[in-house]
Amino acid sequence: MSYIIKGETGDWEVVIGLEVHAQVISKSKLFSGASAEFGASPNEHVSFIDAGMPGMLPVINERCVEQAVRTGLGLKAKINQRSVFARKNYFYADMPQGYQISQYDQPIVGEGTLILDMPDGATRAIGIERLHLEQDAGKSVHDLSPTKTMIDLNRSGVPLMEIVSKPDLRSPEEAGLYLKKLRSILRYLGTCDGNMEEGSMRCDANVSVRPVGSTDLRTRCEIKNVNSVRFVMMAIEHEAMRHVDVYESGGKIDQETRLYDSNKNETRTMRSKEMAHDYRYFPDPDLLPLEFDDAFVAKIKSTLPELPDDKKARFISAYGLSAYDAGVLVAEQDNALYFEEVANGRDAKLANNWVTSNLFGVLNARNVPITESPVSAKNLGRLLDLIADNTLSTRLAKEAFEIMVETGKDADTVVTERGMKQITDTGAIDAAIDQIIAANADKVEQYRAGKVQLIGWFTGQVMKATQGQAAPALCQELLKKKLEV
Ligand code: MN
Repeated sequence: MSYIIKGETGDWEVVIGLEVHAQVISKSKLFSGASAEFGASPNEHVSFIDAGMPGMLPVINERCVEQAVRTGLGLKAKINQRSVFARKNYFYADMPQGYQISQYDQPIVGEGTLILDMPDGATRAIGIERLHLEQDAGKSVHDLSPTKTMIDLNRSGVPLMEIVSKPDLRSPEEAGLYLKKLRSILRYLGTCDGNMEEGSMRCDANVSVRPVGSTDLRTRCEIKNVNSVRFVMMAIEHEAMRHVDVYESGGKIDQETRLYDSNKNETRTMRSKEMAHDYRYFPDPDLLPLEFDDAFVAKIKSTLPELPDDKKARFISAYGLSAYDAGVLVAEQDNALYFEEVANGRDAKLANNWVTSNLFGVLNARNVPITESPVSAKNLGRLLDLIADNTLSTRLAKEAFEIMVETGKDADTVVTERGMKQITDTGAIDAAIDQIIAANADKVEQYRAGKVQLIGWFTGQVMKATQGQAAPALCQELLKKKLEV
């Protein structure tokens, strides 16, 4: 999937690195016992620590450390058994401490890998640079008063994992795939809910361009806090085009932080990019270096679930699915679970078709997750059994499925109530065939003269005459017998 921007002076490629802030699933904040829950009334969840009161001492939340290690293991990354919290100094009205407690040159997680699942079934490995723990800032609320800005400190101190990729991504599409895959892994691990709309996963994109064939990295711009996968892709595309235009008109790109405006589909300058030294990072004197041993890591490792890549590989080998189909099924853990319950002991490809086209179609139309599916995995499985034992043709099964969706009833009940049994009695089908042959002498003649594709038309007529309940294969067999005398 090569993505090239055709400029006036030549071809350009895009270089993208993503920084994702993922809110850690934890009951309490990173350094205080206040609740980290979303959606409380303003300033309801604020301890003296979160309010930056002088003399208050932070205490690390062990649960958040476990979650960071768990995420590092899920990203096949190096776990650093010694890491250091550092103060990142800057002023902002919603950050009362005057600094953010983050990690700088000694993060808790080092280099790792994330595998992109490309649409053509291929994969591509993207490097992870690091993952560190840090606290979130509060929130400035500008729309409650015409003259004042309100400060809500509920988010102050909420635990975040900042996950930084290497500049390995080469197109807006790859950036989108990266975010979806990362979100999928975080959800499997139970370390972040990945909800971009509520802000529990936020993305900054670093974008630069260079002539195709060149390997040096040019000046990048950082687009801040984009809140949906689609907008990240649009912002990158727009920003890359802007760089090409600037270079081709003889200008130069300044390193800066930019905002993406989704209404206008444009980025604009927010501030010139600060360098690390502007923040005067230094180790936080209130917190000891974070240290843990092999046993701590091993214990967390023993509780990891089967992750998307492994599950995908197993779905390919155990069920004979294509890489693409397996990738679609494993993206959400609940979908994978549902599929396995349907596929278990049945034709897996048929199960895949019913889950990904028929069922997903219904779920998308109703905008509900699979956990709220109107048809349970057990009921869908039973419907497939009725196809397998020839009680239902595919056509009848689709009708039964629609009724199951509407009524919530199981397959057997629907079949009995609607008398939906497929007709496999040759006598009844023969009678219908005789009538159709008698009434369509011209078509019979054409068929016998060699226009054999008319078999489809005849089958259709028999199906019609039997209200769709004749077994199609049997139908064709009997038709051929009578037409080919
Ligand atoms: Mn950060």
